[in-house]
Amino acid sequence: MKNLIVVSYGGGTNSKALLVGLFERSIRPDLILFADTGAELPETYIDIQDTSEWCVSIGFPNIITVQQVNQYGDKITLEQKCIEGKMLPSIAYGYKSCSLKFKRYPQDKYINNWPPAIQHWRQGGKVIKLIGYDADEERRAKILSDNKYDYQYLLIEWGWGRDECVAAIKRAGLNQPGKSACFFCPSSKKNEILQLKSKYPALMLRAITMEDNAELTSVKGLGRNYAWRDLAKSIDNQFNLFQTESNIDIDCDCYDGVAA
Ligand code: SF4
Repeated sequence: MKNLIVVSYGGGTNSKALLVGLFERSIRPDLILFADTGAELPETYIDIQDTSEWCVSIGFPNIITVQQVNQYGDKITLEQKCIEGKMLPSIAYGYKSCSLKFKRYPQDKYINNWPPAIQHWRQGGKVIKLIGYDADEERRAKILSDNKYDYQYLLIEWGWGRDECVAAIKRAGLNQPGKSACFFCPSSKKNEILQLKSKYPALMLRAITMEDNAELTSVKGLGRNYAWRDLAKSIDNQFNLFQTESNIDIDCDCYDGVAA
């Protein structure tokens, strides 16, 4: 039986490098999925479109974007869900349901209804899902299979850490995508919040609106033990303090295509 290969595309450096590595090894995926929470930075959406066009140009399938829907079948963003529920993304409270509901479930739903996967499972096969954990985050590559999927961590097999991923993207002549995450992600570092405020004040305002709207008891705000609103007020004076934090675009521990 022919392998059926699905790439869970996260929109960041690792998953982009994974596509480059597949191309360099003449491995063609059958499906590339990106789950959109509705809250990526503008440059991430542009890069996903560019990468999708590159995929088509090399004979890969285009990147298909999937999104969570509400009970009526209408697309819904994580921001809408938080505003309506007067809450913050669950990661603010120490849970991962925001990434499960808005990243994992839409991908699972798509594949569950994808005819090649249905046929493959009927014939007793498992779909190969490629996960873009790199060689610097081997600890995350714990799950090898479940009843539907075999998970493969090719960046780790190839020995590609972050540096090799950046180099591969450069080698392919593509733009570096930077970090992919919701602009209001509670896992954001202070220097990232600072960058959001200066580069995208309208998005920062939306994040603070979400925070102000949330009914909070166990956490103070999007920063968990502090509110982004308070940080925004003092951020200019504290600019120098944040410069000591790492600026490496390490992805947050959000869903990356494999069950937690
Ligand atoms: S990026 Fe952050 S807020 Fe968005 S789904 Fe992932 S963990 Fe949740």
